[in-house]
Amino acid sequence: MIEVRGLTKRYPGRTVTRNAVDGIDLEIPEGKLVTLLGPSGCGKTTTLRLIAGLERPDAGEIRIGSRLMCAPAEGVFVGVHHRPIGVVFQSYAVWPHMTAVQNVMFPLQSGQKRMGRTEARRRAMEALEMVGLAEFADRPAPALSGGQQQRVSLARALTREPEVLLLDEPLSNLDAGLRDRVRDEIRSVQQRLGITTVFVTHDQDEALAVSDEVVVMDHGRIVERGQAQDIYRCPREEFTARFMGISNSLPGTVQEGGQDMAEISLAHGRLRCLTPAAAPVGSRVNVFIRPESLRLSRKDSSGRGWKGTVEFSIYHGDCWDYHVRVGDTLLRSRMYREKVGLAHGDPVFVVPEEETAIAIADKIAASD
Ligand code: ATP
Repeated sequence: MIEVRGLTKRYPGRTVTRNAVDGIDLEIPEGKLVTLLGPSGCGKTTTLRLIAGLERPDAGEIRIGSRLMCAPAEGVFVGVHHRPIGVVFQSYAVWPHMTAVQNVMFPLQSGQKRMGRTEARRRAMEALEMVGLAEFADRPAPALSGGQQQRVSLARALTREPEVLLLDEPLSNLDAGLRDRVRDEIRSVQQRLGITTVFVTHDQDEALAVSDEVVVMDHGRIVERGQAQDIYRCPREEFTARFMGISNSLPGTVQEGGQDMAEISLAHGRLRCLTPAAAPVGSRVNVFIRPESLRLSRKDSSGRGWKGTVEFSIYHGDCWDYHVRVGDTLLRSRMYREKVGLAHGDPVFVVPEEETAIAIADKIAASD
């Protein structure tokens, strides 16, 4: 549905060594929600704005459906108003002097469409219904909550009956409770309408919750892409593993290789790990272990525990994070049960769960 080839964007007047978007290739299948995920400045918003036609690329091509939207080499550029898209921004961009329904009607009555008032109101009410806001139609925009205003801008994007919906951090101005509700609303509308959607966020939890596929970006490039479950369970790249919050990383060596799993020797013992790519025997890897895959116990009944000392603990409401020193390494263990009752200086065994840690080839060691 959306096809991007070699997309490149440089911003002039800046002493940058890299392009904001650096030769991206991307396909977004019809009816799917694909998230562009990455840290601040990695080029997500620029990519979205290029797809929207709000920016002109320096190189590359964008197709929506089978239509060419831009190709600088051929002098083709279709402007934002002529692309079959709806856009929702982080700042809701709702007009304060209008009611909810007037906000949604306005684009239908202006521009090229110039729809009659009755038809525009009917279409606007349909869109407000879709986002669960019909009963607030005649309320002035400033009297709506942030979440409701964001749903108004979603309804406004939907009234254009776009082939593609582009969402740029639509939840980041909302407080935590509302964010979840609007997120669920967006996903439910997207699935109901089967509308092809690109969603930009820097929040990995948000990306996992809404996406069919996640595209991880860094420095204007795509690091990897995959289904949300695969990106979470077994990232192929160290950058993704760290960005997804897998904070424990230990160097190791492959003892026994396999297709999807390998036996890795670490400084403190052996561990069976997932391997997203071939891991030849003897090769060096970095093993990424989720905090929730490291159990703590006072006795080592498994015989596989690593001896450590508690440094400090942090309470998160539904869990505790313990920071435990094992040799030279500080590991983080997440315990979901009630407090294990460990304090600074207590000796403890860290027991790693088998077959959930991920062994990723150590590229630096490999290039030595
Ligand atoms: P964030 O999550 O902070 O919005 P992002 O991943 O969306 O970040 P972009 O906004 O696409 O990143 O920016 C990519 C790079 O391009 C950054 O280095 C940014 O400073 C630069 N950039 C973005 N817009 C402009 C602009 N209008 N002029 C100059 N440089 C820009």
